[in-house]
Amino acid sequence: MQHFASDNYAGICPEALDALLAANVGHAPAYGDDDWTRQVSDRLRELFATDCDVYFAFNGTAANSLALASLCQSYHSVICHEVAHVETDECGGPEFFSNGSKLLPARGSNGKLTPDAIREVISRRSDIHYPKPRVVTLTQATEVGTVYQRDEVAAIADLAHEHGLRVHMDGARFANAVAALGVAPSEITWRAGVDVLCFGGTKMGLPVGEAVVFFDRSLSEDFAWRCKQAGQLASKMRFLAAPWLGILEGGAWLRHAGHANAMARRLAHGITAIGGVERLFPVEANSVFVLLPEQAQAALRARGWRFYTFIGAGGVRFMCAWDTTPESVDALLADLRSALS
Ligand SMILES: *Cc1c(COP(=O)(O)O)cnc(C)c1O
Repeated sequence: MQHFASDNYAGICPEALDALLAANVGHAPAYGDDDWTRQVSDRLRELFATDCDVYFAFNGTAANSLALASLCQSYHSVICHEVAHVETDECGGPEFFSNGSKLLPARGSNGKLTPDAIREVISRRSDIHYPKPRVVTLTQATEVGTVYQRDEVAAIADLAHEHGLRVHMDGARFANAVAALGVAPSEITWRAGVDVLCFGGTKMGLPVGEAVVFFDRSLSEDFAWRCKQAGQLASKMRFLAAPWLGILEGGAWLRHAGHANAMARRLAHGITAIGGVERLFPVEANSVFVLLPEQAQAALRARGWRFYTFIGAGGVRFMCAWDTTPESVDALLADLRSALS
């Protein structure tokens, strides 16, 4: 049975698994000094069409926390959306790894920050008693399944840079955003002013691992030491790196993300057709948020479905993955229809 709790319930996509197995030959240098790691870094530089600096971490919490820590001193602060993963789901990781840089949550509809909301936080205080804003972090696609348009990213980045702030992007579902927007990855990252991207691999279909991509190479100084100290330097790095080769080759990453998005649209259309269910956010990536009565939730759970109710502003979240089948979507819809009747 496929679940809609999270895209990290899905297994490893075949392209990543093949590449992982293909890397399991003989001996190779450890700690990233291997051909696979070099090749993936080069592929990512090609993908982003720029000479970026690339690192790998085991998960998104570490990638975000260490990337933010590299942009801040301990007396700085990071402006984020109030439902941002860094604020709500990383157990204080960003604050811990930055030795105390404070997160400053701001509001914005559909999970997105706006220049006005950011300007308000930046201009609130400038005295020495307040943690000095130093970074804006955006999640792309957002925690509630919406997507920042290129111009929205650029407007935020322009404002941030005007005030001497850096721009970090939590791209746990970056692939879904790229697939949704149909743009070159560079267009919604460095060309729009993003300084550092945490490019999610896990939810895209890798077994494990995220890439931290520094578009401003001056910001990655000593980042390797930061990773090592945090326990994020894989000694058998080739197994973190090789799966990336598999999904970057031939564009599998983007096909899978596009498929997950399409399954979310199918689910959303089906829910609309059932009627009487309030949808919470525009479906722009691979998740669908709805309000469901308690007894309908219980009925779905009794039939074995798993889903989250603690993400974002509440409601039920259904998340589609690279391998979600139309049949699974339709089976969920059928059970939803009977749960509501
Ligand atoms: C899943 C996710 C992450 C990474 O979470 P880990 O469990 O630490 O890998 C980061 N940001 C967002 C928005 C996520 O959904």
